[in-house]
Amino acid sequence: MLVDLIVHGAARLVTCASSGGPKRGAAMREVGSLAGGALAVKDGRIVAVGETSEVLAQYEAAEMVDASGRAVCPGFVDAHTHLVYAGERLDEFEMRIQGKSYQEIMLAGGGILNTVRQTRGASPDQLINQSAARLATMLELGTTTAEVKTGYGLDTASELKMLLVIEKLARQQSVELIPTFLGAHSVPPEYRGRTGEYARLVIEEMLPAVADWYARSDFAAQAKPCFIDVFCEEGVFDADLTRQILQAGKGCGLALKAHVDEFVAMGGTTVGIDLGAISLDHLDHTPPTEMAHLAASPTVAVIIPAVNFNLGSPEFAGARAMVDSGVAVALATDLNPGSAPCPSLPLVMAIACRYQGLLPAETLNAITINAAHAIAMGDKIGSLEVGKQADFIILEVADYRHLAYQFGVNLVQQVFKRGRRVV
Ligand SMILES: [Zn+2]
Repeated sequence: MLVDLIVHGAARLVTCASSGGPKRGAAMREVGSLAGGALAVKDGRIVAVGETSEVLAQYEAAEMVDASGRAVCPGFVDAHTHLVYAGERLDEFEMRIQGKSYQEIMLAGGGILNTVRQTRGASPDQLINQSAARLATMLELGTTTAEVKTGYGLDTASELKMLLVIEKLARQQSVELIPTFLGAHSVPPEYRGRTGEYARLVIEEMLPAVADWYARSDFAAQAKPCFIDVFCEEGVFDADLTRQILQAGKGCGLALKAHVDEFVAMGGTTVGIDLGAISLDHLDHTPPTEMAHLAASPTVAVIIPAVNFNLGSPEFAGARAMVDSGVAVALATDLNPGSAPCPSLPLVMAIACRYQGLLPAETLNAITINAAHAIAMGDKIGSLEVGKQADFIILEVADYRHLAYQFGVNLVQQVFKRGRRVV
């Protein structure tokens, strides 16, 4: 049978294949590694995965890629980013080095609100140009799909501007994007002290506009989800407002996510599980009873150790215990200008192995198949299986564990999106 592309002779073809949902427990240690593996691609989809001799006996292709001496892995999925923003936060970086806490900086009008000011003032083209450069870097580092949040607009027009920027970025470059409306990221300065009123604005004015945009967007046309997310945190949105906002989003047909338990446990994990959230993210301070509920739920835990690393914190989310207790764990960068100016999922793997006791295999599953499930795309991407999109990367090395073992180096040599070489 004639196909478009065959990758053959891989030292290791790492599939991260999972039957059904995200991987849990002992399955996290299995990456589905095939010595001498090959992959056949037609019309952007994988039509065969197997040993090279088997695949070459059944298929021929115009484009042959010799992967001998190298590992082939699924393209990485970054399930949590704030990559659309204007301006940098270098002064804040220095304040933190000198001992100011994240929350002290936030209360002083810095932090997220600093980026809100600059993002509101930026034109769509400025946002697109700055964000496209970040996406190009992510692609070179192996990321083929990324979730992208709004949340630096915090008024209806600026939030819609960010969604339109995400839609345009999705059209013009190779990283596949999944949008998230995060109007409830922070309370804007004009609503200071009136969090409840701002939540009403999110629910009554922003949400209908977002639902209307989504219905007419490329994402809906391509049967891709749009998420709603809330920063459930002390001084931001409490569990009750989080529930109201997520419930309203669900009513508008959006899928649910939430930032929970990053600094203080607020009950957001229970709210998210109750409402059927696809993912709950951060989980640094989640109490054991809520963690047990999470393990028994279909919700994916998105763990973000680049933030703890960036804040110079000695404390990290208990990812080891989460995996051992059966929570479906994914890892993400949280790419943003304040708490994680980091586009690299391999660096996140390296941090998770060192500070959270995860094995390289667990971290690879966490940035591929489990991350795909964290954005409701697990049936299309995240593993090398027949029928899925041909999103894969070829490393410079034969063993994928180098991704976590080495750091500060890019081991991704080639990147393919839907069977097309894009790096
Ligand atoms: Zn975030």
